[in-house]
Amino acid sequence: MFKDIFRKPKYITINSSPTSQRNLSEPTQVLEQTSTRKELPDGLWVKCPKCGEVLFKKDLNENQRVCTECSYHFRISARERLDHLVDPGTFEEWDQELESINPLGFPEYEDKLEEARNKSDVSESVLTGQGKIDGLPIVLAFNDEKFMMGSMGSVTGERITRAVERAIELGYPVIIFSTSGGARMQEGILSLYQMAKTSAALGRLAEHHLLYISVLTDPTFGGVTASYASLGDINIAEPGALIGFTGPRVIKQTMRKELPAGAQTAEFNQDHGQIDLVVERAEIRSVLARLLRYHQEGAGYGSTL
Ligand SMILES: [Zn+2]
Repeated sequence: MFKDIFRKPKYITINSSPTSQRNLSEPTQVLEQTSTRKELPDGLWVKCPKCGEVLFKKDLNENQRVCTECSYHFRISARERLDHLVDPGTFEEWDQELESINPLGFPEYEDKLEEARNKSDVSESVLTGQGKIDGLPIVLAFNDEKFMMGSMGSVTGERITRAVERAIELGYPVIIFSTSGGARMQEGILSLYQMAKTSAALGRLAEHHLLYISVLTDPTFGGVTASYASLGDINIAEPGALIGFTGPRVIKQTMRKELPAGAQTAEFNQDHGQIDLVVERAEIRSVLARLLRYHQEGAGYGSTL
């Protein structure tokens, strides 16, 4: 009968497990799930998205989350990066208590912030403080992609600005590791103000002849590329990092032109003068230490005007 077609659904319902629903926005997490076979304990193995090799997660973490087969650089958290980079016991975190509110009353923003705090081990999308690299004192900032894709809200901008201002007081250079989707839409224009604020602070750092090294990691986009990430005296990027202002689709719609292949990679940006150096994660600590030494004047850095 015709009405039976409507009574009996012909499609099959697939029961999806909670694990297959979580973290769909995170490529590495998804890969971890798709690469996991029934005989392998969940979460112990990761498939490299570049070479396809199935890697033991412990080995990957011990290799600073760089594929042991093809050197693909997986994303890492701010604290993992900090551990790899800074001399043990020398890091002092700043402004941890400074947290975002919902200034524009954007729907569900508080929930998103809470979720981001639970998902990451940072209280905002950037972690700042002072520490030492190879015995050399510096001011550092690290974006964390697990916190709303490292997006720049008012507190992100404020933490970076305060860190740069303290660097001026201390007479220390600044190193910022950026990973960000850009400005945070939930804070509207207040988020865009942070581009001017962080840039102005870095301008004052330059007036004091203090070195600023920007390290762009995968991905760095939008208002972050258009402000502090591109203002380094030296701009370094990690191999294969995607760097740009906006995505290829929006560029095509706006410019009516296709981007050349690979135009938003670290290597392309280096070839075209936007990036000075592309440095493997395993080498970054020694490269930064060398650059800091080159810029030392006597016992300190720069000069205080
Ligand atoms: Zn690989």
